[in-house]
Amino acid sequence: MVLMKLEENYNRVKEVIEKAEVRTGRKPGSVRLIAVTKTVNAAVVRQAVDLGITDFGENRVQDAVKKVTAFRGVRWHFIGHLQSNKVKDVLPYYSMIHSLDRVSLANEIQRVAEKMDMVADVLIQVNVSGEVSKFGLDPGNLAGFLIKMRSFDRIKIHGLMTMAPFESDPESTRPHFRALKELRDINARPGVELKELSMGMTNDYTVAVEEGATMVRIGSALFK
Ligand SMILES: *Cc1c(COP(=O)(O)O)cnc(C)c1O
Repeated sequence: MVLMKLEENYNRVKEVIEKAEVRTGRKPGSVRLIAVTKTVNAAVVRQAVDLGITDFGENRVQDAVKKVTAFRGVRWHFIGHLQSNKVKDVLPYYSMIHSLDRVSLANEIQRVAEKMDMVADVLIQVNVSGEVSKFGLDPGNLAGFLIKMRSFDRIKIHGLMTMAPFESDPESTRPHFRALKELRDINARPGVELKELSMGMTNDYTVAVEEGATMVRIGSALFK
C-alpha cells in the first residue's frame, strides 16, 4: 500500500471521529481508533505503526499470528469469534478480547489466565440487532451473564462490544448503538462500570461515535 494514501486515510478518519466527538459534546480524543489489519500484511502494519497508530485489531488467530508477534510494542485487540481452544494462542499476545459471549469461553479464559498468572481484559459481545448470523449474547441474558462472571477472578470486564448490521444508510444503525449504550447504563455497577463501548466500523463509525463509542474498529476506511 502506498504510504501517502494510508496517511491521508488515517488523517481523514481521525478528523471524522473528532468532528463527531465535538458535535455531540464529547471531549476530542475520547474515542480510541483500532486499526483492523485483517486484510493487510506486516509491511502495511509497519507503516501504520510509523504513522503513530497504537491499537490494532484482528479477527482470526491463525491469519494474524505473524503480524501480532512481529509488533509487540502496540496493543492488539482480538475482535473475532473466539474458539475456546484458541484462547491459549490469544491471551499471551492480545491486550483485549472483544468477543466474550458464553460461559464456556469464560471458563477457558479463566483457566489460561490463571496458568499465565495474569488477569484477562475483556469486553462482552452483545448481539443487539438479533441477527441470527451474528455472534454475541442476547441482550436479555446480559444481566445474568454478568452475575455469573463475578466468580471469574481472572477476567476483568471493561465493557461491551457489538456489530451492527450493514445498512446502506448508516443512520439506520443508530438504534443498535443506542441500545448497547442503554444496556451498559442499566447494567453498570461499582466494580463493573462497563466503561468501554466497542462499536462502529467503516460504514457506521460516525453514528457509533455520536452514540457514545469509546472504541471504533476500522479496516477498509484506512487500508483501501
Ligand atoms: C473486519 C472487522 C471490522 C472492520 O471492518 P471495516 O468495515 O473494514 O471497517 C470491525 N470489527 C470486526 C469484528 C471485524 O471483523
